[in-house]
Amino acid sequence: MTKAIRIHANGGPEVMRWEDVPTPEPAPGEALIRHAAVGLNYIDVYFRTGLYKTALPTSLGMEGAGTVLAVGDGVTSVKPGDRVAYAGGPLGGYSTERVIAADRLVVLPDAIDFTTAAAMMLQGMTAQYLLRRTYRVKAGETILVHAAAGGVGLIMCQWAQHLGVSVIGVVSTPEKAELARANGAAHVVVGHADLPAEVKRITGGAMVPVVYDSVGRDTFASSLDCLAPLGMMVSFGNASGPVPPVDLGILSAKGSLYITRPTMATYTSKRADLEHVTSELFGVVETGAVKIRVNQTFKLAEAAAAHTALEARKTTGSTVLIP
Ligand code: NDP
Repeated sequence: MTKAIRIHANGGPEVMRWEDVPTPEPAPGEALIRHAAVGLNYIDVYFRTGLYKTALPTSLGMEGAGTVLAVGDGVTSVKPGDRVAYAGGPLGGYSTERVIAADRLVVLPDAIDFTTAAAMMLQGMTAQYLLRRTYRVKAGETILVHAAAGGVGLIMCQWAQHLGVSVIGVVSTPEKAELARANGAAHVVVGHADLPAEVKRITGGAMVPVVYDSVGRDTFASSLDCLAPLGMMVSFGNASGPVPPVDLGILSAKGSLYITRPTMATYTSKRADLEHVTSELFGVVETGAVKIRVNQTFKLAEAAAAHTALEARKTTGSTVLIP
């Protein structure tokens, strides 16, 4: 037997249960891994509440790092004993042991420990594709990043600075503002009540070519008003709730804007893309250009407390659950 956090109904953190589950056998193409560390991500909240649908009962979690215990037929990319990590579906990260398609695993460089790996795979790959592909930032640009002191946010601040890009970070408290600044944000705005006016002041009226908005419902409209003509609205999350349907006419009225709603799954579904994204991510972490800030750890069995803290905006940087 092994242990996993599972839910039998959607709801608050209290629906998560620490249960015995049979140790799975790796099918052809799969690997069985023992988690040393598991990543906490906001998407775990969406699956728990039911904002994102899945069949019940289910485990949660889309990210982990650990050691390969066994492999199924036909697996040659990893072997027992390898140190590996992954991010993405299917759900099942909140477990001591799990099986997963072997081609979703990447072998970890020696320099990256399990806790760092579990913290950075999902949030770091997201930062990579957002900054390097969805809208490929260029040195000298000024960009807007919401939730700048969060997990994805602190990685984006550092990575953008490394690329010569000035980040205007949006956060909710002065303490988070300090943290975003310490991690490379050139400017920080506390709260989003006057965001377009603040962006106008900071950019001397030019506004920004791209907004990375993971907050969703509360900030969508003001984010659009921060864009320069032909700017790109990247709506990549719903921490405050999903964005209601959009009238496309608003994009023409506000200056021929672009809008996209990307997911990491699309950008890493091909093995070649996964390898490219992770090699860039490991590169910036190994050189120290991006430091992974694991600012909270919880026992995996106490994942409910981690969810409570995340939803209450009490966490900063990344959070790791230890089996
Ligand atoms: P964070 O650590 O960034 O935590 C969420 C942060 O959102 C909070 O700390 C808070 O920062 C801010 N926030 C604003 N409004 C609310 C609200 N009403 N309730 C709760 N939080 C709020 O989480 P992650 O780094 O895990 O994820 C960041 C976002 O990116 C999430 O929306 C997530 O879904 C999205 N995401 C999307 C991916 C994709 O591929 N599309 C992949 C990975 C993440 P503050 O207090 O400063 O406002």
